[in-house]
Amino acid sequence: MNIRIGNGYDIHRLVADRPLILGGVEIAHEMGLLGHSDADVLTHAIMDAMLGALSLGDIGHYFPPTEPQWAGADSLVLLSQVQTLVQDKGWRVGNIDSVVVAERPKLKPHIAAMRDRLAGVLKLNPDQIGVKATTNEKLGPVGREEGIAAYAVVLLVGN
Ligand code: MG
Repeated sequence: MNIRIGNGYDIHRLVADRPLILGGVEIAHEMGLLGHSDADVLTHAIMDAMLGALSLGDIGHYFPPTEPQWAGADSLVLLSQVQTLVQDKGWRVGNIDSVVVAERPKLKPHIAAMRDRLAGVLKLNPDQIGVKATTNEKLGPVGREEGIAAYAVVLLVGN
């Protein structure tokens, strides 16, 4: 079987007066993530993993933060474009596993919605998308609630 693996990592700063969007789901919180796009750190990590699996570089190459057209972009739209790129090269996603590292808010109640949202965009079954959440045990910048980080691994299967 023709398979490729990729990994992705991202972190964004938490600030006041921004929505908190993770895996395409807006989560009620007094702070949100700062970024040129909607700063959806989970979706960004997944995109980087998909691109990395095919040695295609990273999302900064395809959607540069200097480009006004990506200002406030819905990261799910970017994810869909990455999916098209992967498919055009003759690959499909076998499965994704990911972890969001956030001290607060509690993400567990939102995980099913994130998986559904990502699966909808990628036209996958939600059981092909793992999303886990953990705190950083109050350690480091994530532990001090200065930011939220995400890690993702993706397996691509050749058509
Ligand atoms: Mg990012």
